[in-house]
Amino acid sequence: MIDLCVGTLIASAASAPVAAGMCRPDDAVVYPTGYDVKFNSFPYYKGDDLGLTIAGNKASFKLWSPEASAVKLRLYANARGGEALQTVDMTKGADGTWVADLTPVPYGRFYTFQVEHGGKWLKETPGIWAKAVGVNGDRAAVVDMAKTNPEGWETDKGPVVKSITDAVIYEMHHRDFSMHPNSGIVNKGKFIAMTEDGTVTPLGDKTGIDHLKELGVTHVHILPSYDYNSVDETQLPSNGYNWGYDPLNYNAPEGSYSTNPADPSTRIREMKEMVKALHEAGIGVVMDVVYNHTAQNDDSNFSLTAPGYFYRHNPNGSYSDASGCGNETASDRPMAGDFIVNSVKYWAKEYHIDGFRFDLMAIHDTETMNRVAAELKAINPNIFVYGEGWTAGGTPLPAERRALKENVAKMNGIAVFSDDIRDAVKGHYSDATDRGFATGKPGLEETVKIGIVASTAHPQVDYSKGNNSKFAYASAPTQIINYVSCHDDLTLTDKLKKSMPTASDAERMRAAKLAQTIVFTSQGTPFMFAGEEVFRNKKGVHNSYCSPDSINAIDWNLKHENADQFNYYKELIALRKAHPAFRMTTADDIARNIKFDDVKTPNLLSYSILNNANGDEWKEIKVVLNGADNDAEVKLPKGEWKVIAFDGNINHLGLTDENEAPLMMKGGKTSVPHRSALILARIK
Ligand code: CA
Repeated sequence: MIDLCVGTLIASAASAPVAAGMCRPDDAVVYPTGYDVKFNSFPYYKGDDLGLTIAGNKASFKLWSPEASAVKLRLYANARGGEALQTVDMTKGADGTWVADLTPVPYGRFYTFQVEHGGKWLKETPGIWAKAVGVNGDRAAVVDMAKTNPEGWETDKGPVVKSITDAVIYEMHHRDFSMHPNSGIVNKGKFIAMTEDGTVTPLGDKTGIDHLKELGVTHVHILPSYDYNSVDETQLPSNGYNWGYDPLNYNAPEGSYSTNPADPSTRIREMKEMVKALHEAGIGVVMDVVYNHTAQNDDSNFSLTAPGYFYRHNPNGSYSDASGCGNETASDRPMAGDFIVNSVKYWAKEYHIDGFRFDLMAIHDTETMNRVAAELKAINPNIFVYGEGWTAGGTPLPAERRALKENVAKMNGIAVFSDDIRDAVKGHYSDATDRGFATGKPGLEETVKIGIVASTAHPQVDYSKGNNSKFAYASAPTQIINYVSCHDDLTLTDKLKKSMPTASDAERMRAAKLAQTIVFTSQGTPFMFAGEEVFRNKKGVHNSYCSPDSINAIDWNLKHENADQFNYYKELIALRKAHPAFRMTTADDIARNIKFDDVKTPNLLSYSILNNANGDEWKEIKVVLNGADNDAEVKLPKGEWKVIAFDGNINHLGLTDENEAPLMMKGGKTSVPHRSALILARIK
């Protein structure tokens, strides 16, 4: 538990970017050195049939463990405890593998491997390729995967995504979303919460999947849903809460999100049912994947399979720790890179997952990430991949090989989170009281502009004035994910409370609307944290990774209380989806079509998106962002402008006056109310 808590604490700090120019003391280490050199001579096994494969009547077990002197396979009646029903001495196969075939297939049994290494028998392990596991993931299970498919699974398909910039991503934890008594959902905290139609709050507002449809997001990004270590699956429902950044079995779902963790098939079937229900609602499923470290060190399934190989080390043989969680994996080694690539491919094929979010992606090498994206696209061109382009500590992997945000242009089909826009809009993540552009702190205008152009080169953006990155690191807007908050750190609501302590909630809601308007009108892909559309908070807890439901669960009665906020978010999403001008796909288009106005007032930005950008029906869109405490005056070009957003109100079809006539502006001097966005569409 201590390791877990420390690890997750630092995982929160993982938001810390390794910004250009920051000291990287680890760069002095030349990799590979010392202890790790020996792994270069390990045999490479090319096949993708490690673990258990079933063909007809035969079960074939295969483990890659090149230094093992012997390997035993054990079959059990139960997921935990009891003597083995059968013990099989595995035989040496090709390229460091050990094999055993069993006929008939022992369906319903559980199994482990045990490796003799350096004259000692290691602990038993389900291996690293268990596709089904028993309760708490100690033993793998023999399951007929075809029988886990819900009805109609063969024709199940996620949404078509022409460009990642067309996506609207909603980051959600299973328990947060459904656990509150007001959710009206029966299967609270479970995968199948998403399969319940027609759920409402006691006040009659839609919840669950109907809420997502009403809001209009295109993709749900689920927090880690593979089998993780921290929640005791034998103690449901009294068990606790965890974000799940403590991986145990990478290729099987987490048991606590199933209605019966004791049955290995249930979690598999129920996760598929969730995916299918979301797909039927037109919503894709992005999975948060944490291949950069494991919950355990010497006792992890990697260590009990091929000791040392899957991790990077310091020259003295100790674990290097770029994850801040006690270890870091070694994607740059062939079998470790293959593991990651084959694992995401498995989730894409078996579970129809539509996207992957890589935790601490810069611990991985760019070559592996390029393989991940290319091989996923070959399975399904609608899949997209993004990640945190930073590490949480020093790594022996040379900086030029890391999948850092600064290296995103070296990768194909990979996007990174923009901490530039995040910190510039709301204030720095690590200083609760720090304000940002949207809350009246001057001097961040140029960094917000960097966000608006998705960190691409633009003739009117001076990167030397950027608060974080000092160069245009993205070569296309498809490489950037824009956000102002996520599961890490304070929710936007709590951040606004701490940074605007004397303001009213109404003022803070204005700031939240402005902050998200910047995210949703900027180039790149917008990403939001679940519940912020109802002004959800976490009672000021910034690292709620194991906080109780009373902190983490979204109180859906807020949807009634903050109906105006919800409607604003809904219209903002509708605006973005209706207008491709906000979703350009090339840096050239952005440089040509976005023109910033010459504004000198602090906390004020004004720009146009011109030329029916990206095929938009609107010839010119004017976006004016006023983050100041006071109203600002701007001079609009003459013309007939339809008002889309003004003074904390928005309608993607255009605002109307009290007589329901379209609200128009003629140009000239115009007042933009404090802490709000003005969005106009030129009609003439
Ligand atoms: Ca688990």
